[in-house]
Amino acid sequence: PLLRALATHTSPHGTITPPNQSFTEYVAAKVQQHDPNKPMLVDALSGQTLTFGQFAPRVARAAERLKTAASKPFGAGSTLLIHSPNCVDFPVAFHAALALGGVVSTSNPLYTPRELAHQISDCGASHILTVGVFHDTVKEAVELSGSDATIGVLGTDSSICQDGADGGAGTFSLADGDRTAIGGGVVSTSEPFDASSCLAALPYSSGTTGLPKGVMLTHGNLVANLEQTYELVKRARPDLLGDNDVLLGLLPMFHIYGMVTILHYSMIHGSTLVTLPNFEPETFLKAIAQHRVNVAHLVPPLILFLAKHPAVKPEMISSLECIMSGAAPLDAHTQQEAATRIGCEVVQGYGMTETSPVLTIDCVKGGKPGAAGQLVPSTEACLKVADPASPSGFRDAAPGEEGELWCKGPQVMPGYLNRPDATAETLVDGFVRTGDIATVDNEGNFFIVDRVKELIKVKGLQVAPAELEGLLLTHPAVADAGVVGEPDQRTPGDERPHAFVVLKPETQLSAVDVTNFVAGRVAAYKHIQNVTFVPEIPKSASGKILRRVLRDRLKEGSTQQ
Ligand code: AMP
Repeated sequence: PLLRALATHTSPHGTITPPNQSFTEYVAAKVQQHDPNKPMLVDALSGQTLTFGQFAPRVARAAERLKTAASKPFGAGSTLLIHSPNCVDFPVAFHAALALGGVVSTSNPLYTPRELAHQISDCGASHILTVGVFHDTVKEAVELSGSDATIGVLGTDSSICQDGADGGAGTFSLADGDRTAIGGGVVSTSEPFDASSCLAALPYSSGTTGLPKGVMLTHGNLVANLEQTYELVKRARPDLLGDNDVLLGLLPMFHIYGMVTILHYSMIHGSTLVTLPNFEPETFLKAIAQHRVNVAHLVPPLILFLAKHPAVKPEMISSLECIMSGAAPLDAHTQQEAATRIGCEVVQGYGMTETSPVLTIDCVKGGKPGAAGQLVPSTEACLKVADPASPSGFRDAAPGEEGELWCKGPQVMPGYLNRPDATAETLVDGFVRTGDIATVDNEGNFFIVDRVKELIKVKGLQVAPAELEGLLLTHPAVADAGVVGEPDQRTPGDERPHAFVVLKPETQLSAVDVTNFVAGRVAAYKHIQNVTFVPEIPKSASGKILRRVLRDRLKEGSTQQ
């Protein structure tokens, strides 16, 4: 009640009324409106394509296979974990599971078996789809987790099992012999359907604190966010909606930015999405040049690569008209410099997994330097400053003052899976606490100026300090540990995990011992880059690590190696 009385900022772009449809029905209906023979996804490496016309029948057939999966049928209440790099079959498997009333969780294919095991048990996956190269990791993770999940093959990868044949305990395949068929519909959801309460996706995020948690996103959340994004562009930047846009699908589809804002935005808009399984400079540049990519959704380190790397020649990227930057901060200077060097506009969007993800998009033609943008339709926000004197513990920021950004809208998750405590900390009176510090100008442009949550961002991907600290504490010589993000001087906005470590008495450990210990247990982007040995980790009276103090130590350069 107190919050309701406080000032909120509303979107200058009005509202939307999202349909009460399943995500799959919504997407399939939009897909159907486009030329059935036009490529919807093109794999830049293999050349494999999926046309707009092939999508629905492929989903229907994949659903049929999933439903009758070898050892365990998939159905309402089942959870499919997709553990795969970007490929044309990703959306097919995704929607096959949703069409059967199931939920889809997604994981980083670079995870070690240990990391994957955590997600398998946490999300309760009954089925896991992967590709050949990751099959052994998945198998090991399933064993580690003690789960009885069934492992299957995504698409036509026959390196694990032949279609229908058992290539290992309980494997099944979504392989589709008939890739050319057009027509037919997707399985429709049973009536009555309430999109706002029916769970669709479970991506993982550590939120403001702790370990990665399953973010419950409903069909309604995903439909709303696509409508919000698409409508905003239509209302504020119609010039960005070309008929023959070619988008780049390099950022991972397991992450919310790749899953919704790139993959599905491209599908509903009717663009061709050129997918890449990973970042490799040569194939990245070749994909842009060969397919004449004109709109590229990227993260700041990739924008810097395009702007500064000597291997990038102007003719290779001459097709680019707009670069959309998200998932991490891009400062005004870097943004402007990059736009000039690359020779196209660079605009930012801002959001988080918990908000499906988009909250703001920069609508200023050419980009407003440093701005995260204006609120997408049907979204409210307020900026909060901690205030012990106020009964709620917070007050609204004064005009021009910085505050923590709190947001509300149909894209906000209903909560974290099985984590009522974390949900209650993050959702306050319908607002999601972003853990980001922002300011807003008179025109409703938000600027993200700092991050107060624990989260470390490496190339746009999440690294949860609590996970690395927990891991370090399992080392017999480590008494205590605190991990924070250290700004990467070469790449503004990017961070590297830095560990402060307290050793047990009479033990010896070098910085390399520490980094090697972590490196053997987590995916490469989470590796500790620097170590500082300290006599103690600064903590609050309640025992919380004072990360601000650790970060300030890094800033001051007062670390003792
Ligand atoms: P994720 O859930 O992985 O998408 O991470 C969300 C977080 O990434 C946000 O809460 C921000 O801390 C950061 N982030 C995303 N977009 C931006 C942006 N445009 N500027 C600054 N930080 C951003």
